[in-house]
Amino acid sequence: MSEFRLYNTLTRRVEPFAPADGRTVRMYTCGPTVYNPAHLGNFRTFLFEDLMRRVFQLRGWQVRQVMNLTDVDDKIIRRAVEQGKTIAEVTAPIEEIFHRDREYLRIQPAEVYPKATDFIPQMIALVERLVACGVAYRAEDGSVYFAIDKFPGYGKLSRLDTREVKSGARVLQDDYSKENAQDFALWKAAKPEDERSGAAWDSPWGRGRPGWHLECSAMAMDLLGETLDLHGGGIDLIFPHHEDEIAQSEAATGKPFSRFWCHGAFLLTEGAKMAKRVGNVITVEGLRRDGVPAAALRHFVFNTHYRKELNLSDEALEASLQGVRRVRDFHDRLYDPAALSLGGTPELATAADEAVAAAEAALFDDLNGPEALAAMFNFIRRANAELDRRGGDRDSVERARAAFERINSVLDIVPDRADADPALATWIEERIGARREARARRDFGEADRIRAELTARGVAIEDAGGETRWKLVRAT
Ligand code: AMP
Ligand code: ZN
Repeated sequence: MSEFRLYNTLTRRVEPFAPADGRTVRMYTCGPTVYNPAHLGNFRTFLFEDLMRRVFQLRGWQVRQVMNLTDVDDKIIRRAVEQGKTIAEVTAPIEEIFHRDREYLRIQPAEVYPKATDFIPQMIALVERLVACGVAYRAEDGSVYFAIDKFPGYGKLSRLDTREVKSGARVLQDDYSKENAQDFALWKAAKPEDERSGAAWDSPWGRGRPGWHLECSAMAMDLLGETLDLHGGGIDLIFPHHEDEIAQSEAATGKPFSRFWCHGAFLLTEGAKMAKRVGNVITVEGLRRDGVPAAALRHFVFNTHYRKELNLSDEALEASLQGVRRVRDFHDRLYDPAALSLGGTPELATAADEAVAAAEAALFDDLNGPEALAAMFNFIRRANAELDRRGGDRDSVERARAAFERINSVLDIVPDRADADPALATWIEERIGARREARARRDFGEADRIRAELTARGVAIEDAGGETRWKLVRAT
């Protein structure tokens, strides 16, 4: 098997990678701040992390991924106060939207989604440890800060020039620039609005709340151990967030916090980073309403290497839509029972083996999505030509199916028919609603008739826990 290599921001090099125990990759990825629905920029990063975990699985490793949900921070508190709510009331619906969008994009769930507010005791314990070893101190403002000049490794991830470090000066806010590399807040003294919105807890330093950086260190070490295999996020998190996570964790344990640091590049629109404050965000919900299938969005994101900037444009999305239509047509042809009876050729089997080898070589070499996609489309072209020859060989068709599935287990770019056809999805939802109403008035004859109508169009339904789920079991 080819060597597995990954770019490590810590060393600025592509290096051989394997989990420390040889079996399970323990990875921590910084998740969303749940005060606004995540935009496609955020999801570019989450899709890169989905690619990463699926490639690890393809390589034969297990994955234990932890993705935090930041459910207490300045922005959430401000929103809660404005709306007269608690922070939990602000974050709960957004959390739901996050998972709905994530599922739409077929992003595999992380093994754990810890919420910051569920880990306050672990965070306090970590601050206590840092105070005890002399790298943290309580300032006159009642907050506890990390003293960056007490930690010699400070700046190693972001390669801070020492002249930029202003030790002794303090910064209370969570996000700040490299020019302001200063002692940062671990624990913030409570203000009246924190109390009012349910964002204050008791601590040895009085009422307060955790800083953002502290959350991730405490949850990562609690759930994954003191040295992770890999820590990931968007490139904007390198400084200060990840630099500060390293400082807090390593000052407390004396061990490396993460063996690898992996960062995805930005999604841009018209040359600018997609960001709420720029006002150029596009949501998954909006794309879904416009009928853009998840498969096309995955194709669009994976078709640029994760370390390169990616520009969102109508032309690029259109190209991805066309690409995944080809994938679907090929998939339908390959899985049609006629494919087996007509059969393939020895060349089809060769094309299948070569496609798998090419895709694996690309993915195992720093997650090269564009090359893996090229291997898939090259295979489709060759396989179509071989299937045209109706060679009568069933085994080669089975081999082609297995190859397709193996590559697609990572890319996951076969569009659902309903994804690609929002009108069909709307019709299905409408019929399910009518069936629910029929059942409510105990008109079971009508309910059965609607089920038969759905079945006739290839839709299977299943009632579970008061909900009706549906899926397409065959092409319409
Ligand atoms: P946030 O909710 O702002 O904490 O961001 C969640 C994740 O999305 C982080 O890993 C960010 O680095 C990432 N992110 C934010 N904006 C973009 C963007 N335009 N392109 C790619 N990743 C982004
Ligand atoms: Zn984090």
